[in-house]
Amino acid sequence: TLPRLPVFEAIARHDPESTAVIHSNSGRRFRYGELLGDVCRVRNRLYETAGRDDLDGERVAFLVENSYDYVVTLLAILAAKSIAVPLSPAFPAPELQYILNHSEALLLLSSSKFASKAQEVLRTELDVEPAYLQLSKFQGGGNHEKVTLEKTGPGSAGMMLYTSGTTNRPKGVLLPQSVMTAQARSLLQAWEYSASDHLLHVLPLHHIHGTINAIFTPLFSGSSIEFLFPFNADAVWRRLAAPFLTPDQTYNPESSHLHHHQKKVTFFTAVPTIYSRLLATHKLLPPGMQSATRTAISPANLRLAISGSAALPTPIKRAWCDLSGGNVLLERFGMTEVGMALSCGLDPADRIDGSVGWPLPGVEARLVDVDTHQVIERGQERGADGRERVGEIQLRGPTIFAEYWRNPDATAKEFVPAKDGRGQWFKTGDVAVRRPVDGAGQSTAPSQKDWTRGDLYFILGRRSADIIKSGGEKVSALEVEREMLALPQVAEVAVLAVPSGKWGQKVGAVVILDRDALPEGKWSPLEMRRALKGRLAGYKIPQVLRLVNHIPRNAMGKINKKMLVKEIFQDEFS
Ligand code: ATP
Ligand code: MG
Repeated sequence: TLPRLPVFEAIARHDPESTAVIHSNSGRRFRYGELLGDVCRVRNRLYETAGRDDLDGERVAFLVENSYDYVVTLLAILAAKSIAVPLSPAFPAPELQYILNHSEALLLLSSSKFASKAQEVLRTELDVEPAYLQLSKFQGGGNHEKVTLEKTGPGSAGMMLYTSGTTNRPKGVLLPQSVMTAQARSLLQAWEYSASDHLLHVLPLHHIHGTINAIFTPLFSGSSIEFLFPFNADAVWRRLAAPFLTPDQTYNPESSHLHHHQKKVTFFTAVPTIYSRLLATHKLLPPGMQSATRTAISPANLRLAISGSAALPTPIKRAWCDLSGGNVLLERFGMTEVGMALSCGLDPADRIDGSVGWPLPGVEARLVDVDTHQVIERGQERGADGRERVGEIQLRGPTIFAEYWRNPDATAKEFVPAKDGRGQWFKTGDVAVRRPVDGAGQSTAPSQKDWTRGDLYFILGRRSADIIKSGGEKVSALEVEREMLALPQVAEVAVLAVPSGKWGQKVGAVVILDRDALPEGKWSPLEMRRALKGRLAGYKIPQVLRLVNHIPRNAMGKINKKMLVKEIFQDEFS
């Protein structure tokens, strides 16, 4: 028996014969009918390992590769009413050590694949002494079992995710089971996951994007999840193409191992850097594969391709649209603390370049003017001087996290009590403007019509790192990046706030040039500034520009700008 969690109720209702998980490389399938039985068994092993049968609210850290085993482990921890702390196999030992200590983990689980990594971190000096359990591979093919759901509630079951650590040491974000469920319900309504969806999963599993959007939510709707791990652009293309290859192509030795892939992928979610890798490698595919992949990602086959976790550069969005014959990437905005908060709509007309759309169902959003600290009400999007007012995004509702783990000060600092007495607003630290867009928000599809309405949100970036205050003007780093990326000569760019005696801050840019667009390989900062003249107001054009070959990003494609600016513009700091 299992506690009565909404996710278990949903799974128990799905067709037991339908596929829950596929391992892309081996073609191995696991059905919904065997999932909850495996969850029960692993939950019991947690009790045995801990030597007690009450783990309510305890933190259970786990190191398991993207696979059926990951899904079972996550659900088993929830079934024990404990708090699941997923660890990344890419983390070096000190990072794992930090998380085990910080979360005060009672148990550490690992798959056999990561046993030595787990042992390595257990050998270091830890403040905690987690009991260790090595999970053996699930064989699958098990019988369908009738698992009964008890009357008991979820207790303190939940998940603890660490933020990406882009701006600081990663913070532990506590997401109670009720919050996870509210996030899943919101996405189910907005993106219409269904049992006929087949999702290709290529993301890390210690972030909200890979866990809530691409595992927890599909489980609610009975979609199937296929893990392709580790991410490899070529393998992704071959997999996408597989159902569309002609028999002679299928038996081509290079793709013969894909013969088991009958299912076409209908749902894909990734970060901008992944789309950019895919676009770059597509050109190198053999011609037959090129046309099969185009078919695979056309709007008729790939129902939804989503981008998030960092701003989506418009050239990537355009290139994907061209390649796929009109599949417009859907951009959304989210963070560890809140899951997904803003999203463009299912109607392609509701996917406006540079915008992250509207507050998702169940999410309440407001903008608070960064200068006056007043709420920017509808119709007040422009100030008396006619300029757009820039506001911090604040959020409230059942999808918002409970607290930063063992950090009441940070928790208190980021929440403001609501004046209407209804709960609290969470300060995201990201700033945006709201703008009406002609033609967007007209969709009449039943599920879309309540939330894809009114003005759209346009993210300007992080308040702490992306808003450059230069001589009394505010410049959005994201806006400048977007315009610079529109220049064919620019392959990658990070726009940074560089200290300036005269201006307070000045706009700086670190640029990787596109070698294909510059046969001579040369482009002077002067030429670059000239090219930006028609695109950006003078004060927004970078005053200092540096050419580099590499811009460091973390696993989610994000840049630590505080670090980067010090590294690249060292000489400007005094
Ligand atoms: P830390 O909080 O540790 O510094 P982080 O904020 O990068 O790290 P996450 O919670 O993974 O950790 O990322 C959330 C942030 O990602 C948001 O606050 C926002 O700045 C950025 N983000 C997410 N989606 C988008 C998007 N579509 N456009 C622009 N920025 C986005
Ligand atoms: Mg953050």
